[in-house]
Amino acid sequence: MTILDIHDIPAQRRADVLEQVPTGLLIGSWRSAEHGDAFPVHDPATGAELLQIADGTTADALAALDAAVDAAPAWAATSPRKRSEVLRRAYEALMARTEDLALLITLEMGKPLDESRTEVAYAADFVRWYAEEAVRLDGRHTASPDGGSRIITSPQPVGPCLLITPWNFPLAMGTRKIAPALAAGCTVVLKPAALTPLTSLLMAQILLDAGVPEGVLNVITTTNPGAVSAPLMADARLRKVSFTGSTAVGQRLVEQSASQLVRTSMELGGNAPLIIFDDADLERAVRGAVIAKLRNGGQSCVAANRILVQEGIADEFVARFQRAMAAVEVGPGTQAGVAVGPLIDDRAVKKCSELVTDAVVRGAKLVAGGDPLPMPGHFYPPTVLDHVPAGARILDEEIFGPVAPIVRFGPEAEAVALANATPFGLAAYVFTENLDRALRVSDALETGMVGINQGIVSNVAAPFGGVKHSGLGREGGHEGIEEYLETKYLAVNKS
Ligand code: NAD
Repeated sequence: MTILDIHDIPAQRRADVLEQVPTGLLIGSWRSAEHGDAFPVHDPATGAELLQIADGTTADALAALDAAVDAAPAWAATSPRKRSEVLRRAYEALMARTEDLALLITLEMGKPLDESRTEVAYAADFVRWYAEEAVRLDGRHTASPDGGSRIITSPQPVGPCLLITPWNFPLAMGTRKIAPALAAGCTVVLKPAALTPLTSLLMAQILLDAGVPEGVLNVITTTNPGAVSAPLMADARLRKVSFTGSTAVGQRLVEQSASQLVRTSMELGGNAPLIIFDDADLERAVRGAVIAKLRNGGQSCVAANRILVQEGIADEFVARFQRAMAAVEVGPGTQAGVAVGPLIDDRAVKKCSELVTDAVVRGAKLVAGGDPLPMPGHFYPPTVLDHVPAGARILDEEIFGPVAPIVRFGPEAEAVALANATPFGLAAYVFTENLDRALRVSDALETGMVGINQGIVSNVAAPFGGVKHSGLGREGGHEGIEEYLETKYLAVNKS
């Protein structure tokens, strides 16, 4: 592992980008928080403060809902073509600002600049995809079985939505919700994570400049998410909550949704198994495992959390994987050549250390990494643990860091049983050259998504989401817009 610590981006360039970020709340238009309070946002690579932004209150959140409710009828009545064109302009505008948005993502979240650029393209692509979907919404028209009436269905916007996003993909988690909501004719209140709100604020300004009307998109930043979301969840005017984040918070929101029967979409935590069979293409498996483990520094809900390797191929896989992980460059995301940036905060570093120590104490063998890095910021090295025994915490908990625990298995059925032995069910990965086995194992896996011979499942055109404790509903693809639509049925008398 090479450790890099010289930053490539000049201070003036950072200052210029930060200057473009609106620091208020977007409630129809930009304004300060109710009591004028603000909170700092920090760079996880250095701990330095980046900006102070408005700290929204309950009253601010209710004002944002007022704005979304006021704007709802006109936006729902705006033609699909016009909504589509606004989104298409927003897509072009986001892409034109790739460098600014990417630098902002790296500054507040830490991922390497190249990964941030990839996130901007992925995030903007949701806006393009739903610009295209906006004009493809249809219902059906059939005769009732008794011939006495016609059945007509038409999709309707569900109404004002609360969108709550996590810190790990500051731009893409927002656009994955905003774009289908706006395409469907809904207005929204976005509440980004307090650790990484800057990208959302700049994105909101870019969307306004592209023609999103006042009140259609509102943004509340806050250090007190419960005080912002709970009153909205209790308000009968809110019709939908879409949440991406931890399972614990998602469960609380589902409970809160009961009082007003608010529709929910829940993109929650994961514990993805990555299964490598003896008949896998080893080079492809190593490449896929490194990507599935290290993308976003392992801070992804679909990160490979457990690597399950069949006994016949295990020694060779571990040797190659360990070499690949150890060769990765770690450092600030603004440094050229870095492939793994800092973790989001000290708690994340402590969690990785604790999980590794627990596994080693229980008998796992540390074959790469594991030592804290001698540099400021929240860094943890790519780490590989072999022979991790059942009962180790690292197999049961979401790691959210660059640590890969390896478990060896014998027959295929054992791999499936190990993979499914978790309450989570978001993504899984299968590496095998045998098509029958790939399909058979995919069918048996209790997850919403399966990557076959590849370490990435995310795709704007595909339905992303989980089962069990990983959530409800899907984002992306055509399924993603249905989360923001109600079906209205017209019974038309035929005589
Ligand atoms: P988190 O649950 O702590 O926070 C997510 C969001 O919820 C933030 O905006 C936060 O401010 C807000 N929040 C926190 N407490 C709240 C409350 N009481 N009421 C309302 N909102 C509240 O999660 P995180 O640490 O930001 O993100 C990491 C988690 O997100 C991981 O578990 C990861 O797997 C999950 N995640 C899932 C997906 C997916 O698509 N399934 C994608 C990315 C991240």
